[in-house]
Amino acid sequence: MCGIIGYVGKSEVLPILINGLKKLEYRGYDSTGIAVRNSIDNPIVIKSNGKIDKLIHKINNKNIEAHTGIGHTRWATHGKPSLYNAHPHHSDDYNVIGCHNGIIENYQELKEKLLNNGYSFYSETDSEILIKLIDYYCKKYKHGPVDAINKTVVRARGSYAIAIMFKDYPDQIWFAKKGSPLIVGKGVDGYYLASDITALTDYSKSVYYVEDYECGVIKEDSVTFYDLNGDIVEKQPITINPEHLLVDKGNYPHYMIKEIEEQPSVIEKTINKYVKDNNIDFKLPTDILKSVEEIYIYACGSAYHAGLSAGYMIEELTGINVRVEIASEFRYRNYNMNKKGLAIIISQSGETKDTYEALVKCKNNGIKTLSIVNVKRSVIARESDYNIYTEAGPEISVATTKAYSCQLIVLYLFAILLAKEKHDIDNDKYNLYLNEIKEIPNKVSSILANKEKVQKLANILVAKHDIFFIGRGIDYALCKEASLKLKEITYIHSEAYPAGELKHGTISLIQDGVAVIAIITSPSIYEKTISNMIEVKSRDGSIIAIATNNYNVDDCSKYQIYIPNIIDYFASSIAIIPLQLLAYYI
Ligand code: GLU
Repeated sequence: MCGIIGYVGKSEVLPILINGLKKLEYRGYDSTGIAVRNSIDNPIVIKSNGKIDKLIHKINNKNIEAHTGIGHTRWATHGKPSLYNAHPHHSDDYNVIGCHNGIIENYQELKEKLLNNGYSFYSETDSEILIKLIDYYCKKYKHGPVDAINKTVVRARGSYAIAIMFKDYPDQIWFAKKGSPLIVGKGVDGYYLASDITALTDYSKSVYYVEDYECGVIKEDSVTFYDLNGDIVEKQPITINPEHLLVDKGNYPHYMIKEIEEQPSVIEKTINKYVKDNNIDFKLPTDILKSVEEIYIYACGSAYHAGLSAGYMIEELTGINVRVEIASEFRYRNYNMNKKGLAIIISQSGETKDTYEALVKCKNNGIKTLSIVNVKRSVIARESDYNIYTEAGPEISVATTKAYSCQLIVLYLFAILLAKEKHDIDNDKYNLYLNEIKEIPNKVSSILANKEKVQKLANILVAKHDIFFIGRGIDYALCKEASLKLKEITYIHSEAYPAGELKHGTISLIQDGVAVIAIITSPSIYEKTISNMIEVKSRDGSIIAIATNNYNVDDCSKYQIYIPNIIDYFASSIAIIPLQLLAYYI
């Protein structure tokens, strides 16, 4: 996941690239780089490790005038974050210069081929290989960019969005994509290319989505798309959704806290979109719900954790077996899938490569697919049989908060609807659950209004090297999400354990002062989790309890954060808030 920006037109390109990279910085901040080319000068490539400010500093010393260029912000996958691995990459003679998002899985095989043909490599990236392969086909067949790009992409396995400049086509930027997003924007003064719509909102009101296996070119006054045969593909632009224009950080210091604070409103928006007059309506055919015999949930990261929580709830409410699996694992597993099953595919962006491949695999297995995504018209949304959008709005922070919360809401509503359609719950239960869900925004707001205790706790935990999370059932699913949130933004080592599993070995790591956060919201397993907390206490672990007001956990924990009472199916939506805040403040 990195960012690409490109521009060809009448305006000076450098300010556009820098502005675009700033907007894309949330996508990767290991290194940044730009390449500009005009018809008179040689190409200029400037790169820097670290964040965009360092690149700006380097650029500021130079007097560059150009109207065509590309830029990249990297989130390293192949090769460590460093100057020499920074994009754009180039052939030794600068015939081809390009940026790449994604992963080329057969990079070693392609590298061998190029080594045998006299190429050498200055970086550790898969991206340099891809760029040099384009150069190789360009020089070997001399059939121009479409041919060179298409020959390259049919040999490359994996995912890519690329922006390329060819020496012989100085006023053009070429592009191609498979599995990583790429968008072309039409502006008043030229054409733009970006991996993410947020980089285009200052310039373009209408955009074209590049499809997998398409390539194309932007010039000052046109864009042309080609398919793998080299034939022109006709496309219509799409007007940008106004909500994409609302991606400003406002007065918040970081997008993460802004998005944490937005949760009451986006949760409410998601509820209001699908609940009308106490009826849940996802516009799904009722026969699908009535006849479903098994549910499969595929997702990655936080979306997987939302799926785990839903799995417990759906099984308990409906008796339908739910298999929740990490998408990248499912891709390479083979098991019999029940043809009367329904696969739920969850992804914030709707572009997550592994999740998309899980969708494709389900379709190939003849399983109906329902996607829960946040980004409208994303590839997963387009290709699934049924689709439910979360209403989280653009999520800029890499550490997801509001999209995860909206995924939970949609999954709760889905579980209740399913239980109702299958007559597993009566009207009273249905109304009780629905009313409880409608209370969630207020309960989330009440936690956000009282952050002091979490801030104090963050001050204590900031010095820890290891933080464990324990819980059972749905609380365990939440532990996984809390642990992920913590490690991804604090870099503190953390693990989530089913509370009862700790004693089977891992408890040996619990020593004096090791922090253990226990989540305790479910009545049925409350006493069991308390027992596990006492085990930790006996080994002098420092226990922080996150508990609903139902339970008094003062005796078995050192610090307590009490959250408003709620039916335990929905407690994750409340309990995650202090845990997101904790990760943020640490
Ligand atoms: N694989 C490329 C690199 O490591 C691109 C990384 C990415 O898209 O996150 O430079």
